[in-house]
Amino acid sequence: MNPAVCCYFDNNATTRVAPEAVEVMLPFLAEHWGNPSSAYRLGRTAARGIELAREKLAALIQAEPEQLVFTSCGTESNNAAIHSALRDQPEKRHLVMSAVEHPANLSAAAYWGRLGYETTFVPVDGDGRLDLDRLSQAIRPDTALVSIMWANNETGVIFPVAEIGALCRDRGVLFHTDAVQVPGKVEIDVGAVGADFLSFSGHKLYAPKGVGLLYLRHPSRFQPYLLGGNQERGRRAGTENVAGVVGFGRAAELASRWVDETNRRVRAMRDRLENGILATIPGTFRNGGLEPRLPNTANLGFAGVEAEAVLLALDRVGIFVSSGSACSTGSLEPSHVLTAMGLAPDRAKGCLRFSLGIYTTEGEVEYVLEQLPEVIGRLRAMSPREWR
Ligand code: PLP
Repeated sequence: MNPAVCCYFDNNATTRVAPEAVEVMLPFLAEHWGNPSSAYRLGRTAARGIELAREKLAALIQAEPEQLVFTSCGTESNNAAIHSALRDQPEKRHLVMSAVEHPANLSAAAYWGRLGYETTFVPVDGDGRLDLDRLSQAIRPDTALVSIMWANNETGVIFPVAEIGALCRDRGVLFHTDAVQVPGKVEIDVGAVGADFLSFSGHKLYAPKGVGLLYLRHPSRFQPYLLGGNQERGRRAGTENVAGVVGFGRAAELASRWVDETNRRVRAMRDRLENGILATIPGTFRNGGLEPRLPNTANLGFAGVEAEAVLLALDRVGIFVSSGSACSTGSLEPSHVLTAMGLAPDRAKGCLRFSLGIYTTEGEVEYVLEQLPEVIGRLRAMSPREWR
């Protein structure tokens, strides 16, 4: 394979925009570029584009269109959910999260912590699974919100959100789940999850960056995070990213087909890649329990090497992978997810995430299996670290 070709194995960081999404977006950039808040035709056409997309996203997650608020990204959706839950219940000053949440949640917890709020972080076991008894014990009379992700972006481990939703309902506590990694991989029925808030992001679903979504079980209780104009029925100020929203809507229409494809073809390629690496390269290990797990994600450790060095060596042969969540790439800290699972920092620093997508090909998987043993062998030979 020509290394100039890009072999993209980082679909949990972002996805290529589907050509079908690009196609419907272009007219909203070139022709229907009006402000959706304007009352004349140019504006009304843009507003209609947004409302049609809202209906498509509502259908995807089995919600009502009125329950959906468009945001700028998954990070904003998470921040907005936490903000609303805390502002709506000013007497409650406690949050519960898992120890392996995305930084979008952890940083919000730190921010509210500086304002006097407390967060209890529920641990995970060596397979990355959440301890539901510990979660239950963490809920207190002053808990305003339980915020637990649906699927972990680094390991792909899926948390039992329906069970967590039932527990929160039982205990009378609001529940938010960061579902950013889920659409296109798992079917979604917000009623079955029983969450009060769900966060989504366009660019993880073959739609563009700069558009996110927040589901509200009780829209009337929502306390807006961004203040200003009256967009999104007064729930999110700021002129909408119309073309992005329209592209997100088109992706939502195709998502069920992608769920099928991801669970058949992509899962088979992920398994071939994972098993191939574990079988042919000594000193390798998998992070995260086998199931339930996102069908596109493999997180693998390589004893005796720095993941950052492997990432750069693979980049030189046209293979793109991640050494942690994209937001923490470049940081020399080991992944908070892997250390929460009990990995020693030294081992955690040798881990790579391969996340496949609907555009991944079998040829690309074979190319990685061909290149990786040589890359790992070379780096181990140069390293003073004993790995056997
Ligand atoms: N939550 C999870 C689980 C993610 O994987 C990401 C992105 O990596 C985010 C939130 C943030 O989404 P965005 O990049 O749209 O802000």
